[in-house]
Amino acid sequence: MPVYEFRCAKCGNKFAKLCRLGETGENLTCPTCNAPGPKRILSAVVAVGTDGGKGSNCGGCTSSSCAGCK
Ligand SMILES: [Zn+2]
Repeated sequence: MPVYEFRCAKCGNKFAKLCRLGETGENLTCPTCNAPGPKRILSAVVAVGTDGGKGSNCGGCTSSSCAGCK
């Protein structure tokens, strides 16, 4: 499962969370103030598939090799 970063719109807290693929944060709550729906931050977390550029479409792929996701 991927780790995504989120930022709370209410208190501004930034946190990383292991969640299911495609998690938008809508169903999560801020660990600090408990506000619902933190905003997902697109960060360098998805740095897994960056070997050689063969997987340019693999930004959302959780696999460490892009052989199977096309
Ligand atoms: Zn918060």
